[in-house]
Amino acid sequence: MKITVIGTGYVGLVAGLGFSKWGNEVVCLDVDKEKIENLQQGICPIYEPGATTQLKDGLASGRLRFTADTELAVRHGEIIFIAVGTPEQADGSADLSFVYTAADCIAKYADSDKIVVDKSTVPVGTARDLSCYIQKILHSHDKRIHIDVASNPEFLREGRAVGDFNNPDRIVLGVSSEYAKERLTVLYSPFFRSNKPVIITTPETAEMIKYASNAFLATKITFINEIANLCEQVGADIGQVAAAMGKDGRISPKFLHPGPGYGGSCFPKDTKALAAIGERFAAPQTIVESVIQANEKQKKRAAERVKRRFPTGARLAVLGLSFKPETDDIRESPAIEIVNSLLEEGSFILQLYDPKAMENARRAVNGPMQNVIWCASANAAASDVDAILIPTEWGEFTSLDFDKIGKNMRQKVLFDFRNIYRKERLEKLGFEYYGTGFNPERENR
Ligand code: NAD
Repeated sequence: MKITVIGTGYVGLVAGLGFSKWGNEVVCLDVDKEKIENLQQGICPIYEPGATTQLKDGLASGRLRFTADTELAVRHGEIIFIAVGTPEQADGSADLSFVYTAADCIAKYADSDKIVVDKSTVPVGTARDLSCYIQKILHSHDKRIHIDVASNPEFLREGRAVGDFNNPDRIVLGVSSEYAKERLTVLYSPFFRSNKPVIITTPETAEMIKYASNAFLATKITFINEIANLCEQVGADIGQVAAAMGKDGRISPKFLHPGPGYGGSCFPKDTKALAAIGERFAAPQTIVESVIQANEKQKKRAAERVKRRFPTGARLAVLGLSFKPETDDIRESPAIEIVNSLLEEGSFILQLYDPKAMENARRAVNGPMQNVIWCASANAAASDVDAILIPTEWGEFTSLDFDKIGKNMRQKVLFDFRNIYRKERLEKLGFEYYGTGFNPERENR
C-alpha cells in the first residue's frame, strides 16, 4: 500500500520504518528540513534501539522515502497517518494546532480519496471534528473527493519503540466507515495473521482507550511511589511490598517500581489532557487529578532529600538524565528536574553523565553553568564527589563497582532513586544508602 506519515518524531519515524518493513511504499514528511536531510542519509535523529538498522534497510529497499515536500507527501499516500506532537497547553488541554496544520495540508493537496489516520494522542472527538473540518475545506474548494478520518492510537514505549511497533500488545482501530475498516485491516494484516488482538471500534472509543491506558499506568506508578514514601517512614521494605503485591495476578508486577516520579513526553501531558477533558464534560477525573499533583510532589521530593542531606551544598554525580533508560528523550525527565532544582541553590557542583541523552540534556539544564561538569563516563562523574545520584536506571548503572568507586569519593553517599541496588549490600561497603522507600539504617525507626 502507499502510506504517508506526517511527522517523523518517535512515533511517526518508527511507524514509517515499520510500515516500509512490512512491504508498503512509505513517504515520511516533516517540516524540520534538517531532520529530513539526515534521515535521507540514513542518520537517525533520535536514539532508539534498532531504528538506525531499520532506517538503512528501508532506504536500501527503495520503499522508504523522506521529504519536506508537503504536496508530494500528501499525493503519495492512500492512507495518511498524522503523527505530529500534541503538547500540553497552559490549561492542561492538548494543543491540536500541529494536527490541524497537517489536516489543512491534506485538504489543500489531496487530489484523490484518502484515509487520514490519527496516530497522535488527541482528545476524544478529534477524529470526527477533523473529518468535518477537512470536508468543509474540500467543499469550499469544490473538490469532489472523499477523505475518511480514523483513529489508530500508538502504544509504543520509547527505548523499545521499534520492537513494540512490530510486536504490539494490541492494535486499536477507530473507524467510522466500512471502507476505512477494510483498508486498515489490510494494512495491519500481519497482526491479524499472528493473532494479535485487534480492536475495531469507533474513533471516540479508540481515542479514549489511549488516554485511559496512559492515565492508568501513571496512576499505578504514582500509587507505588506513595506507598514507598510511607515505607520510608514506617520502616517497611518497599521492595518486598511491591514484589508481593505483584504476585497477585489481578495486580501484576509491572509498573510497580518506585522512583522519582514519572516523566517523558506522554504521561505528564496525557494525564493533564484527560483531566481537562473530564472537566469539560463535567465528569471530573479526580483520581487522575490527584495523580498529577502527587507526581509533581514526588519529583520535588527527590531533590529535597538531597538538599536535606547536604544543606550547605556538595559536589554530586548525577547518573542518568533521560526520562527513562534506552532513550535520549529528556522531555519532562525527573532527572533534569532534580538537576535544575539543585543548581538553583547555587551551592551544588554537579558532575553529569548519561549514555545517550547528553546532547539533549545540555539544552535543558538551567543554572550557573560553572557549576556543571559534563562527564564522559559514569566512573568519571562519580569521582571526587560527596554523593552519587541515580535518577534513571540505565543498564550500565546496574553493575557499578562501588567498592572501587567509593575509594574515589569524598563521602560515600548514594541516592539510588530507582532502587537498583540492595541497601544492605551498599551499607556493607560503607555507603549511606537512600532509595525510594529506603532511608539509611541510622534514620530508620
Ligand atoms: P515528536 O515531537 O517527537 O515528533 C513530532 C514531529 O512532527 C516533529 O518532528 C515535528 O517537526 C513534526 N511536525 C510537526 N508539525 C508538522 C507538520 N505540519 N507537518 C510535518 N511534520 C510536522 O512527537 P512524538 O513523541 O513522536 O509524538 C507524536 C504524537 O504521538 C503525540 O501526540 C504523542 O502524544 C503520541 N505518542 C507518543 C509516544 C512516544 O512515546 N513518544 C507514544 C505514543 C503516542
